[in-house]
Amino acid sequence: MMERETLERRLRSAEPSLRTPVYLVDEAALLCNLEILQGVARRTGCHILLAQKAFSMFRVYPLIGRYLAGATASGLYEARLAHEEMPGGENHVFCPAYTAEEMAEIVRICDHISFNSLVQLEAHRPLWEAAGVSVGLRVNPEHSTQEGHAIYDPCAPGSRLGIRRQNLPERLPRGVEGLHFHTLCEQDAAPLVETFAAFEKAFGSFLPGLKWLNLGGGHHITRPGYDIAALEGLILSIRETYGLEVYLEPGEAVALGAGTLITTVLDVVDASDMPVLILDTSAACHMPDVLEMPYRPPLYGAGEPGEKAYTCRLAARTCLAGDVIGAYSFDACPKAGDRLVFGDMAIYSMVKNNTFNGMPLPDIALRHTDGSCEVVRRFGYQDFKTRLS
Ligand SMILES: *Cc1c(COP(=O)(O)O)cnc(C)c1O
Repeated sequence: MMERETLERRLRSAEPSLRTPVYLVDEAALLCNLEILQGVARRTGCHILLAQKAFSMFRVYPLIGRYLAGATASGLYEARLAHEEMPGGENHVFCPAYTAEEMAEIVRICDHISFNSLVQLEAHRPLWEAAGVSVGLRVNPEHSTQEGHAIYDPCAPGSRLGIRRQNLPERLPRGVEGLHFHTLCEQDAAPLVETFAAFEKAFGSFLPGLKWLNLGGGHHITRPGYDIAALEGLILSIRETYGLEVYLEPGEAVALGAGTLITTVLDVVDASDMPVLILDTSAACHMPDVLEMPYRPPLYGAGEPGEKAYTCRLAARTCLAGDVIGAYSFDACPKAGDRLVFGDMAIYSMVKNNTFNGMPLPDIALRHTDGSCEVVRRFGYQDFKTRLS
């Protein structure tokens, strides 16, 4: 495993040979995460799946498939992507509702399907029964462990995600082999332990008859400081107590800190309070979570506003007034032509980008372990035009 310091140095590089904007994923950083996850799986016997909704750079699926048990999907398209690009891995799917047409294809390519209601389970029963797919139900433990991020809390009041205990019969419908809950977001092991206790209290009576339990995603396992021992203790105790296969399906943790978004300053304009750097990237188009979450992405070499000599606002060249990434401070005021490197841009970035304002999409590049960079995909005008008519 590469030293964190060496990794940080690689991640900081603005790679002048690449065209900007570019999402640059670092293979060594990804490997570092994969080794941590594989360690958890080896020591506990659990299965860890890539949640593709966070990171779908399929060029590295063969690599990921060597470390993880497979992938999970939010619907048919992601399931198909894993089927095509991570062959041989397990292929799970969860969607709040599937159409009949989708299910016909899903039962051919997925080995595990989770349903969000008893109606959905029964509507598709003939297809999943005939195909011999293992099916489960997503449940809602009704135990929130997040504050302030209601849009990322499946246990928030009024949630449509997961069946509440009061809406389940005393015995699960015939053929159900697993239960699934996903309630965390960027959290440590303690909230999971707490959530499992709430889940066990409500749904524990079902567990002895089942084959598997999926603990969802939101586990920040690869973040320095995450309590891996507590996670492993929980998994081992579930396996020992109930004899279940345990699944984890992290998205973020797989590619956490494993990529950057490199951008070029195109102009510096004066605002009444501070200079504004106009970039060739956009929060709205290339890092929508900055506006949606919202959060301030890390920027290598920059400080908090006021911390260094020059404070500037970083903004896009779209016409959206609010397309602002944030205020950062620098030792010297950046000028047109300079490059800036945003950190932690592998996850929830490429999978969410768009061409609003006719903005070009960033290239997707891979920095190999030997340090060489390869442009894996370049987008152009046709990618903008073919999504319209
Ligand atoms: C979003 C999601 C995940 C992955 O979550 P991360 O926060 O990226 O780890 C896993 N499972 C389900 C059902 C999800 O909705």
